[in-house]
Amino acid sequence: MTTTTVDVAGVTRWIGDFASVVHENAQYLTDLDAAIGDADHGINMDRGMSAVVTALADAAPADLAALCKKAGMTLVSSVGGASGPLYGTFFLRLATGLGAVPETGAAEFAAALRAGVDGVVARGKAQPGDKTMLDALVPAVEALDAALAGGAGLGAALGSAAEAAAAGRDATTALVARKGRASYLGERSAGHQDPGATSVTMLIASAAKTFA
Ligand code: ADP
Ligand code: MG
Repeated sequence: MTTTTVDVAGVTRWIGDFASVVHENAQYLTDLDAAIGDADHGINMDRGMSAVVTALADAAPADLAALCKKAGMTLVSSVGGASGPLYGTFFLRLATGLGAVPETGAAEFAAALRAGVDGVVARGKAQPGDKTMLDALVPAVEALDAALAGGAGLGAALGSAAEAAAAGRDATTALVARKGRASYLGERSAGHQDPGATSVTMLIASAAKTFA
């Protein structure tokens, strides 16, 4: 059986899986941030996603918009630092894109993910090439759209998106940061993988695993 719809239970599992992966990799994400930032990205994301899992268990949202809005609001309120508002905006825009429905289709999910990424651009004013999470997110949504347009199912298309995110993440190593704390280092930020691009790659990989 391949997944064709994205429902409340599925998105809840996706978010839960991402929270577990972030927890397991919290030290790794923090170590990446230690090289070019302030050594808190794993701590920030672990705190935020653990708060999201608790909030969702308490609220038991009935539709996709309520679910993603709860996740976004919880991230904004529980995570200090750049990643809280940026991840929060991603989930809030995802909520609006998905709408107050119990389930949706692959094309609608892809469009909502793109709206989430556009929200990160609007909020953080970064572009691909600036060595941020967008260097993984933008290729991911482009690969997702291309795969769906080519007739792939949701799981396979998300698999392509996860591969594109990983390639974008790997390419951040060579880049000089132009946004966020890492930009304070100027040229010295080159030679280190971006922590935010690393965590969003985990987010897309979790989606690919969940909706396979
Ligand atoms: P802070 O930098 O405030 O300590 P985190 O360490 O949690 O926050 O997150 C750092 C990550 O946030 C970076 O690796 C980068 O991917 C992302 N980031 C920072 N600024 C921006 C921005 N303006 N747009 C997109 N992503 C950004
Ligand atoms: Mg940091």
